[in-house]
Amino acid sequence: MENIIWTWLELNNGELSESSMEILGEARKLGNTLKGQIHAFLLGEYADEAAAKAAIYGADVIYIATDSIFRTYCPEACLAAFAQQVSRPPRIVMISGTRNGASLAPRIAARFQWGYLANVVKVAPQEDGGLKINTETFQAKVNNTYTFSARQTVVLVLQPGSIGVGKADKKRTGEVRPLEPLADMTNHIEITGFIKADPRSVSLNDAERVVAGGNGFCNQEDLKILQGFADALGAAVGSSKPIADKGWVTYNRLVGQSSGRRLAPNLFVSVGISGATHFIEGMKESPLIISINKDKGAPLMKEADLAVVGDLYEILPEITRQIKAMRGEAEDHGK
Ligand SMILES: Cc1cc2nc3c(=O)[nH]c(=O)nc-3n(C[C@H](O)[C@H](O)[C@H](O)COP(=O)(O)OP(=O)(O)OC[C@H]3O[C@@H](n4cnc5c(N)ncnc54)[C@H](O)[C@@H]3O)c2cc1C
Repeated sequence: MENIIWTWLELNNGELSESSMEILGEARKLGNTLKGQIHAFLLGEYADEAAAKAAIYGADVIYIATDSIFRTYCPEACLAAFAQQVSRPPRIVMISGTRNGASLAPRIAARFQWGYLANVVKVAPQEDGGLKINTETFQAKVNNTYTFSARQTVVLVLQPGSIGVGKADKKRTGEVRPLEPLADMTNHIEITGFIKADPRSVSLNDAERVVAGGNGFCNQEDLKILQGFADALGAAVGSSKPIADKGWVTYNRLVGQSSGRRLAPNLFVSVGISGATHFIEGMKESPLIISINKDKGAPLMKEADLAVVGDLYEILPEITRQIKAMRGEAEDHGK
């Protein structure tokens, strides 16, 4: 079996998605170790335009299809596209565990009778040609190791945001190979509209703004001040580990290395968080970081683009009031 690694790439408004760049970078690293090739499937209306970007992030061969059925996610059509190339089977299929990626990966495994693993954090090639694969579940509390022989193809799902986007090599080029047009197919998934995500429930990975609270809060009740601030900003609430450990928020709100993801929202505001490396690892890629802390020497105050020194119990209600005033909203004490 050749050391070919397949990846499936996603487009957001015609642009290669961030999770796709991330998975390409990881596939590239593995491909370099295995001396293998990265074959990427780019299926969508603007696939041809995004192909060059796929190459600079690591793809050697880019299969493209611009059939109209790919305007929206259609798993059956994706499988039909993969089937065109399956006579030269891959050794590994790497998929980012986005909503669509997590839906497609097990279908690929089932269709072609390949192995399947989700929540993958590490893939290590072995001397005998096999693979040792680590997975993490339950907020990284359960770690498992699996081995696959050199003859087994395996579909791996990696947590989006857990690795980060690697550096593009602008000199890299790839070979673009158009796939055969698909025979008439029906997409059984119909998108009837989009609902704007509620920042209170949206996953931290998808939030455009995040405000995170830490040990600077004296009790759980006080987190209402943080929620009020987040609501005014249209931000999702995150937390440092002590807050999640105390059970004041659920673990899916955790920011930092233990969460297994690296957040990079447009705006990240930390409130009463010192900035241990474990925490900073999970948010340092954010383009705009504001830190509110009464200790100006706290590590996150140095990392921040804007450091606000003061007591959160005075600052948060005041900023919340001012944001609301700017928006012409009535005062409701942050509840
Ligand atoms: C293996 C391992 C993994 C870990 N993973 C994570 C992780 O993923 N995420 C994570 O967060 N931590 C993680 N930790 C824990 C981490 O090392 C820190 O202990 C933790 O991040 C500290 O949280 P904190 O900043 O909220 O608390 P503290 O370090 O106690 O900081 C509280 C801050 O609040 C400020 N403050 C207090 N009162 C006020 C006030 N009234 N107004 C303004 N500021 C105030 C203080 O000046 C201080 O800087 C991990 C630790 C280990 C060993």
